[in-house]
Amino acid sequence: MCGIVAYIGHREAYPIIIKGLQRLEYRGYDSAGVAILNGDLKVYKKAGKVSDLHDFVKGKDITGKIGMGHTRWATHGEPNDRNAHPHNSQSGKFAIIHNGIIENYSSIKAELIKRGHTFNSDTDTEVLVHLIEDIHEN
Ligand code: GLU
Repeated sequence: MCGIVAYIGHREAYPIIIKGLQRLEYRGYDSAGVAILNGDLKVYKKAGKVSDLHDFVKGKDITGKIGMGHTRWATHGEPNDRNAHPHNSQSGKFAIIHNGIIENYSSIKAELIKRGHTFNSDTDTEVLVHLIEDIHEN
């Protein structure tokens, strides 16, 4: 089962989020990722353990007081780095994490591809962040 942790406040978000993801590890998962907003939006994600994600971000910019993290239990698309959450929108301005299944994702995806969207994962989830951006811009 997957898990979501999010933080907004006066403290650095990353240490709080990674601790929260570690506390959710008992639920089972196949990959983990975080998005941190600090002016720009940074997304880091990795297949494997929360500790693999933590090793991966070492030396990278993880500063920011707004963020969210996810542990994924794959339903659509194999467990790998690119299918891990968060997923970015076309412009990279939006990121999404999601638990569950979007039943009608394939028809939405087909429509968005016609509208010029390019997808970077095999997940149902990514469709939603593209749709949100498309609605936001149009
Ligand atoms: N359906 C989504 C995926 O396969 C979310 C899975 C989950 O709940 O972790 O990426």
